[in-house]
Amino acid sequence: MKYLSIDQFRNALICAADDIIASEPELTEIDSIIGDGDHGTTMKSGFTVLKTMLESSGYESMFDLLRSTGVQLLRVMGGASGVIFGTLFIGGHEAVRDKTEMDADCFIDFFDMSCEAIMKRGKARPGDKTMLDALYPAIEAMKGRRKTSGDMRDIMDAAAEGAKAGAQNSADMLPKVGRSKNFRERGIGYPDPGAVSVSIIFGSMAEYLHNICLLYTSPS
Ligand code: ADP
Ligand code: MG
Repeated sequence: MKYLSIDQFRNALICAADDIIASEPELTEIDSIIGDGDHGTTMKSGFTVLKTMLESSGYESMFDLLRSTGVQLLRVMGGASGVIFGTLFIGGHEAVRDKTEMDADCFIDFFDMSCEAIMKRGKARPGDKTMLDALYPAIEAMKGRRKTSGDMRDIMDAAAEGAKAGAQNSADMLPKVGRSKNFRERGIGYPDPGAVSVSIIFGSMAEYLHNICLLYTSPS
């Protein structure tokens, strides 16, 4: 699978939205321990509105799809995490301008640029116990996998694995930015809620790609 079409990317985002919505209790629980407890409900409201938007609109370019996704999250979620998760889908817009398909290089460039934009806006770095601790390793894992494969399923699998491992590793980190810095020691042993969200997003997009490939190859 060399390319993702706009519809496939949109459906992958809908799957991610379903999983974020379903994970609200888990995200609330972790943010209640290390933060102020609102991450689950904030993500759920953002991704519920996003899902409705994705299901009811058509998109002419990847730029249009991703920018609309980011703007919707920014608008509905608000606050620091609205900016962070909005930027996840807006920050890389230069990489997808005029594209109607997404290949491995474009996909990696997109999230690489988004990650840079998040660091610039939020002034956090990998290691500070934020969502960057899932996003950055996801990008590194994709770059590593790209050396041997350009298949979108392999690239997405690498992103999902990198993000999952990164979120798990964030449990050992001490928070340095955001509100959870007020709960420093209490956070040790628990992953960063935003990192868990990133891991869920990449995990469900990877699963979606495997499912459509099964559909294509199953006998009719
Ligand atoms: P709030 O921090 O306003 O309570 P949420 O609880 O919804 O918002 O989101 C918290 C998550 O946002 C954190 O777990 C972290 O991953 C992410 N986050 C917060 N500040 C930053 C930042 N400066 N850079 C990157 N991610 C951040
Ligand atoms: Mg919070």
